[in-house]
Amino acid sequence: MPTHENSSRRGFLRTAAYGTAAIAAPAVLAGCATQPAAPKARVAVVGGGWGGMGAARALVGENAGIEVTLVETNGRFMSCPMSTHFIAGHAPETQFQFGYDGLDRLGIRRITATVVDIDRAKKALVLGDGRRVDYDFLVLSPGIEYMEDAVAGYAQARALAPVGFRAFEQAAVKQQFDKFLAEGGEFVVTVPAQPYRCPPAPYERAFLLAELVKARRVKGKIIVLDENAAPMPPPISPAIMEAYNERYRGVTEYIPQAKLQAIDAGSRTIRTSVGDFKFSACNTVLPMRAPALIRKAGLGERWAAVKLPTFQSAADESIYVIGDSAGVPLPKSGHLAFETGSRVAAHIAGRVRGAPAAAPTGPADLPNAICWGWVARTEAFAINVGASLPAGGPPKLAFKVDPRGNAASGKGAHEWADTMWKAMLG
Ligand SMILES: Cc1cc2nc3c(=O)[nH]c(=O)nc-3n(C[C@H](O)[C@H](O)[C@H](O)COP(=O)(O)OP(=O)(O)OC[C@H]3O[C@@H](n4cnc5c(N)ncnc54)[C@H](O)[C@@H]3O)c2cc1C
Repeated sequence: MPTHENSSRRGFLRTAAYGTAAIAAPAVLAGCATQPAAPKARVAVVGGGWGGMGAARALVGENAGIEVTLVETNGRFMSCPMSTHFIAGHAPETQFQFGYDGLDRLGIRRITATVVDIDRAKKALVLGDGRRVDYDFLVLSPGIEYMEDAVAGYAQARALAPVGFRAFEQAAVKQQFDKFLAEGGEFVVTVPAQPYRCPPAPYERAFLLAELVKARRVKGKIIVLDENAAPMPPPISPAIMEAYNERYRGVTEYIPQAKLQAIDAGSRTIRTSVGDFKFSACNTVLPMRAPALIRKAGLGERWAAVKLPTFQSAADESIYVIGDSAGVPLPKSGHLAFETGSRVAAHIAGRVRGAPAAAPTGPADLPNAICWGWVARTEAFAINVGASLPAGGPPKLAFKVDPRGNAASGKGAHEWADTMWKAMLG
């Protein structure tokens, strides 16, 4: 059974939605217990991003005698949500970077290292330096990797054509923005087919750049090459097309059904299914998949195969895969990843207590998502996605999306981000 604390926290996550809805920091995780002296179970969490922090914190908050170990490559966290403001030069990078001290204070055993293998037979993580971390239950939230091999010539063009959809990679995209703003020419943004991390994000980058191009009268054009027939998922399309057609007409060109096929670094040419495009600067958002660790451990191919609503691996019931790595028809959103972390924590704690959650008999509630698409420095549109799982059927999504970017949602986005960062890192 979920604790009262956890259910009220989930309530917060569901209601802190949409535009300027009042967003209060959830108090639930402030006073959690430290690591138990003689743990009843050891849970390892891989990835100190949105999902992993949600899981690690909530596991401690369950007070179920669980020893929590978090393994994360980086010694600090950087938020992808809001980072377009750094790329556009509206905020310093440090505004989106945080230390993990808040997690350390909770008694989470944190290891700065990269997991290179999962020894499922012996229930142990293998770290890059050869150390091993034993676990009884494992939560994987390692995010995404780029499918570089899907684009001919990408390896040679990598430095010229950054993606910047993972933490600490945004500075390379900012360099492309700055070059274009100084020199003009053609700035190309590519958009992969669904599913990928944060669907509005490639368009948002194009719009914040277009706003600067207009304001500074840069002699240049932003070309968005979208593999999809229209911005996806369909409910976000009106707000995006409004920005192209009304705000940035003449500065941007939107080309649908343009699948990125190759990049030629020498001639600075992007080849797509609808023709070749020269670029002076670019942001190539590549197709994505779960990191190689998932495939190596036999947990899935492009994405991890998981069972809903528990997010347990289809291949190994002691493993949970959450966040963007999970192969589920839900938005790849940090908000959703964080909430999923607290849900799997409750599921694991139930198993540790010997009272596993009963399988739902009717429709099951799934974590929801909140994303923001910026169309200008102070204006965004809010995307709220509620999700449920009908008995025996695929998940059902209910979208609530602003029809156009607006200042109220711009303010709401900042409030949401501050609240989430506090809930994750505070
Ligand atoms: C520009 C942009 C805007 C966005 N805006 C929003 C938004 O408005 N709302 C929203 O909800 N979401 C938004 N997102 C999406 C959000 O960032 C992701 O959905 C979220 O980060 C997914 O969480 P995760 O835990 O799966 O992965 P991540 O947060 O990426 O965390 C993965 C972590 O795992 C670590 N890691 C990976 N492999 C290993 C390994 N082998 N060993 C150790 N550590 C490892 C990584 O270093 C990383 O810290 C946005 C994304 C982008 C790019």
